[in-house]
Formats: sequence, structure tokens, C-alpha cells
Amino acid sequence: MTKIYDILIIGGGPAGLAAGLYASRARMQALLIEKTMCGGQALIADTIENYPGFPDGIKGPDLAEWMTKQAEHFGLKIESAEAAGVENKSSEKGPFTAKLAGGGELKALSVIVATGAKWNSLGVPGEAQLTGRGVSYCATCDGPLFRGKEVVVVGGGDTALEDALFITKFADKVTIVHRRDRLRATKILQERAKANKKIELCLNSIAAEIVGKEKVEGVKVKDVLTGKEKIIRCDGAFILIGLTPNSGPFKGVVKLCPKGYVVTDEEMRTSVPGIFAAGDVRMKILRQIVTAAGDGAIAATSAERYVERIKGAEYPGGK
Ligand code: NAP
Repeated sequence: MTKIYDILIIGGGPAGLAAGLYASRARMQALLIEKTMCGGQALIADTIENYPGFPDGIKGPDLAEWMTKQAEHFGLKIESAEAAGVENKSSEKGPFTAKLAGGGELKALSVIVATGAKWNSLGVPGEAQLTGRGVSYCATCDGPLFRGKEVVVVGGGDTALEDALFITKFADKVTIVHRRDRLRATKILQERAKANKKIELCLNSIAAEIVGKEKVEGVKVKDVLTGKEKIIRCDGAFILIGLTPNSGPFKGVVKLCPKGYVVTDEEMRTSVPGIFAAGDVRMKILRQIVTAAGDGAIAATSAERYVERIKGAEYPGGK
């Protein structure tokens, strides 16, 4: 007979791992599934300076590893699998069925969706062809490849500025191309970028094309005010323009906002009783490791209460 878990956590980033930690300490039968490696975006962060408790910052991969170990220490079961979708339950007390991408299914009385979000692409000529040949979406992974070279970073958010600063450890020059006249990033990052002699800002400009035959040779930018185009010669182009939620498998199951983020209340409840969401996949104002961890803790607590109620309704004498 298929095992029925109390809580199925889909996604092993900080939100899923925090949910797993809380679920395990609550002695719930919890299973976390992750399609690649646990840690989520923390895995590709160089130094994380805004997660409390680490006055000198912490390496992203270290934080990811410690969060995973901590959850496992309290008994969280982690398996490598990808959810392709979740089927609604047939009765209030019955389990949800998660269909797995590789075939097979898992059953659980409650589900926590913690699938995070993925990096956006520009969709301009040259981008797809030159990905891996100078076009990158991950500064931590590829920044060290550009020692002594020139690089363009597209985007004006926290990721773009933080990564531009990181790339200056290697590259001689980093040009930040941003489509508006002001940056979106946190002020402290703006201050650091403006003070860094290797960084040049190219504002009011869109990246219209990634230029190059075998590898990146430049980025064609267009001034949005004058319409004038120019090519910034460079060896690498980092596209760091935000996120799209990994909510595809849950479309038509739970309510999503127009941008595709899962809509929840403060207790991380989605539109379907028994399905909760936590972290970057959720509609919220601040997507950070610290808020993902907070979401995970709340989602696990809400799921625990939900499961206890279901069991209590089923077994006389329960809560
Ligand atoms: P973001 O905050 O959504 O910023 C995306 C940036 O890309 C914006 O400047 C946006 O321009 C630009 N952009 C979007 N689509 C574009 C397009 N098609 N062409 C050109 N530019 C485009 O994304 P993020 O920087 O990846 O950050 C995601 C979340 O993680 C945020 O909540 C952020 O605070 C958080 N984060 C925090 C840290 C930290 O605290 N250390 C580090 C990294 C990320 P507009 O400004 O014009 O919209």
C-alpha cells in the first residue's frame, strides 16, 4: 500500500528546508522532494550578508548545507524527485496525490509548495545561441571565468548589483545596463556600486542584442530616450533581470496571481485547504532567505494543525 505522509514538501530551498525542520520537530511524517540539490538560490550566492546571525556574512553553499543537515538531524526525509502536479483530494480526510515527473506518485494529507523561482531571460537575438559562450545567468558560477576581462551586467535589482560587485573581483570592467534612470537595488548596494571604480552605469538603456559569432563579443544597447544604438564591447554578458515563479505544476490547482505567484494568506494557506506555499514561489513583497525561512516555519505549523484536525476528525479522541 502506498505510504501516506502527513506533509509533502515540494522544493528544497530555504523555505522547504525550514518547513522540513519544523515539521520534523513536530514529529510529523514529512517527506521533502527536491529535483536537484537542496539549498535553492542560496547555493549560487557568494556571500550572504543579510541572514541574521553571521556578522561577517556566510557563503551561500555553506548555509545551504547547514540548513539541510539541520533538518535531517531532526529526522526529515529528503528524496530526489520532481513534482509534475498535484491532484486534489477526493474527500476532506483523504490524501493529495503528487504526480512525479519521472513517473510514480506520492500521497500526503497536506502539501507545502516551496518550489521557488527561476531566472528570467531577455529573449533578444544572440542570447540563446551564446548561452554558455559568454552569456550567463549566474555570477557565482561564471564570474571567475572573466579575470582581466570586460563584462556587461543587465538589470538594476539587488541581484544585478550584488553580482556586478562580485564580478569586479575578477573582471577589469563591469558595465551595468539598466532600462530606467534609477536603480531598483537596495541603497547600500547602489552606494557600493557607484563607489567601485571598475563599475560603469549605462542607464535608460535596453540590451537589444548579444553580439558575437562563437562567443560574446559585445552587447548592443539602445538608449530609450534618444533611440540611439551602440555596441558595448565585452567578453561576457550576465543577464540578471529577476525571477519567474516555478508554479507551473500548480496552475489550475491553487490560485495564482497574474504574474504566476501562489496566492496565500498570512498562515501560508493557499486557495485549497491542505495545500500551503512558502518562499519565493509565493506572492509577497520581499523575497529573501530570511523571509523564505519564516514562510517555511509558518507553513509547517499550519500544515501540522491542518493534519491534526483531519486526523482528529477521523479518529475519535484526537484534537
Ligand atoms: P528584481 O528585484 O525583480 O529586479 C529585476 C531587475 O531587472 C529590475 O531592475 C528590472 O528593471 C530589470 N528587468 C526586469 N525585466 C527586464 C527586461 N526584460 N529587460 C531589462 N531589464 C529588466 O530581481 P532580482 O534583482 O533578481 O531580485 C529578486 C529578489 O531577490 C528581490 O526581492 C531581491 O530583493 C532579492 N535579492 C536580495 C538580495 C540581497 O538582499 N542581498 C540579493 C539578490 C536578490 P526595473 O527596475 O525597471 O523593473
